[in-house]
Amino acid sequence: MNMRAPLNLVEHNLREIRVDNARMLFHVPTSALFALDALTGSLIDRLRAARATGQAAETLIAQLLAEPGSTDPAEDIEAALRELLLLEIVSDGGTLSDDVPSRRVDQLALSTIVLNVNTGCNLNCAYCYKEDLDKPSAGKKMSKETAINAIELLLAESPQETRYNVVFFGGEPLSHPQLIRDVVDYCEPRFGELGKTVDFSLTTNGTLLTDTLTDWLDTHRFGLSISMDGPEAIHDRNRVTIGGHGSYATVRAKAERLLSRYRSRPVGARVTLTHGTTEVERIWDHLFNDLGFAEVGFAPVTAGDIRAFDLAPAELAEVFAGFKRLGQRYLAAAQEGRNIGFSNLHQLLTKLHEGHKASLPCGAGMKMLAVDHAGDLNLCHRFTGSSLPAFGNVRAGVAHAALGEFLARRLEREGTGCATCSIRNLCSGGCYHESYARYGDPTHPVYHYCELMRDWVDFGIETYARIMTRNPAFIDLYLSPRRLH
Ligand code: SF4
Ligand code: SF4
Repeated sequence: MNMRAPLNLVEHNLREIRVDNARMLFHVPTSALFALDALTGSLIDRLRAARATGQAAETLIAQLLAEPGSTDPAEDIEAALRELLLLEIVSDGGTLSDDVPSRRVDQLALSTIVLNVNTGCNLNCAYCYKEDLDKPSAGKKMSKETAINAIELLLAESPQETRYNVVFFGGEPLSHPQLIRDVVDYCEPRFGELGKTVDFSLTTNGTLLTDTLTDWLDTHRFGLSISMDGPEAIHDRNRVTIGGHGSYATVRAKAERLLSRYRSRPVGARVTLTHGTTEVERIWDHLFNDLGFAEVGFAPVTAGDIRAFDLAPAELAEVFAGFKRLGQRYLAAAQEGRNIGFSNLHQLLTKLHEGHKASLPCGAGMKMLAVDHAGDLNLCHRFTGSSLPAFGNVRAGVAHAALGEFLARRLEREGTGCATCSIRNLCSGGCYHESYARYGDPTHPVYHYCELMRDWVDFGIETYARIMTRNPAFIDLYLSPRRLH
């Protein structure tokens, strides 16, 4: 071999998955999926054996050539090795590329602004994590001036973007509908005159929806999610009114009315899974089949602000087991060309399909900032009202130095478990807010369920490979570009 020795397998750059009888290789640096041919598989096995036995890899590869019945010519073996070297699955002692090319963020790519329009909420959900949550009468409402300053800040920070998102959050955002109307009235002509697109979305508890409001949201093509935790017995465990009564009956009636008349976009349900609630399939079945939501997304709480509501380790394991059971149903439906709207899996498959390679876990602080009622800038909606210092405000602008320093700390993987993790470019250390709630430091990786996450991603890779083999038309139809129906 005309290559520098010694050859070594770079284990942290590959993840092997078996799909039926095929060997698949997940290339960690690029999140690409390859079917392993027999020769490449054999080379990988021999390199692995070489390390385990202390033999020189070259000796084992020479044995491969000399094996009785070996039909692989030397040039094919060399070509396969070169490809593995190129992918950095095998190293010949040279320096490996860095997953994170730069630890500095010189410019924001801000495309989303979250407006916390009112800290007040008309429900009193037991687990609610919002740190600035108030009863309706005490809610602090955002002024129109603050909202408009926030929109102008979005445009000033990232004039190069062509598409922007404005997200309304609370408390309960529909408890301050006039501000939402004012912002839309301001944005549509403002972005239109610049030749830019603006998209609106909100997550609501659904209780304040009226036909008039629904039709107005529909006209402006809002992306809507309704917070609903499943059938009555589950939903009413936590989602209660200020007076302590379950909100299921009201939310169901409102959701059904909304779903019967909302036309512009599919409507999703957002489920919060907390201590005592792990019935993933039952919840999905009710929300998707009985109520007709287009998709159902689950948010398992592992590190909320109220620790008593965190899922216990065994509960979290059961949630992921439920995800996999529901994932099997997703796969069965996908083989028949149907999408059953399990958005946690759908999003993972979309990332795999797009070859997602992220050095940061989400857009918070980079593509997205959340504005609280007073105009202070936070990493995302979950940090509004928290004790983490704000990163500027809508009047003085973004505190670039502090934000850059924060992001640089998370971009540094050296010395953390993430540096060699097989899902490092999909997880990237996990949610800042979970880290903050659990470790008091938003830059600390979320270590408490890494194994479950890795297993879930393996399941996603397997599912993706199976759909690719059995019904690739599903991928074209639903994942590329992402669609719900
Ligand atoms: S937090 Fe855990 S699962 Fe995520 S990248 Fe780091 S080590 Fe991997
Ligand atoms: S920090 Fe966590 S909650 Fe906030 S946007 Fe990122 S993933 Fe979501």
